[in-house]
Amino acid sequence: MAETLHCYRHPKRETRVSCAACGRPICTECMRQTAVGIKCPEDAQLPRGARAGVMKPKQILRTLLAGAGIALVGIPIVSIILGLPFQLLISAAAGYGAGTLINRTGGRNGGPLAITVSVVATAIPFLAWLAPDALAGDFSTFGFLAAVLAAVAAGLANRRS
Ligand SMILES: [Zn+2]
Ligand SMILES: [Zn+2]
Repeated sequence: MAETLHCYRHPKRETRVSCAACGRPICTECMRQTAVGIKCPEDAQLPRGARAGVMKPKQILRTLLAGAGIALVGIPIVSIILGLPFQLLISAAAGYGAGTLINRTGGRNGGPLAITVSVVATAIPFLAWLAPDALAGDFSTFGFLAAVLAAVAAGLANRRS
């Protein structure tokens, strides 16, 4: 006896067809023929890459871990960068590198989470060095600018996907 399914959009209609992408049952009226089989209207509409930014739990975890790693490793690196010439340029490059790393670790998905993690993880090491001075009344505009550039570059690194 074949299992009877019910269309997820029309719970009263029986069907034996299910979407090739999400597996939900769909009735003949709802199903869409695509190159890779029958799909529900939602999945048939989504062009390739439209799901960028939708992360699996594992990718989210990896993104967060990568962010934590970058923040920790970044603290000694930033202390070196802030003592170098062309520190703004180097900060931006380092931020972009950090963002790219987080993007790749998270499965190259990009999206709001990867961008947020990249920006925060890149800004933390700068703030760790800048905050004590700033609190003591010695606010470093140049250092702050370096932090902003690095964070923006890290975010931008996640925008291509
Ligand atoms: Zn589907
Ligand atoms: Zn239906």
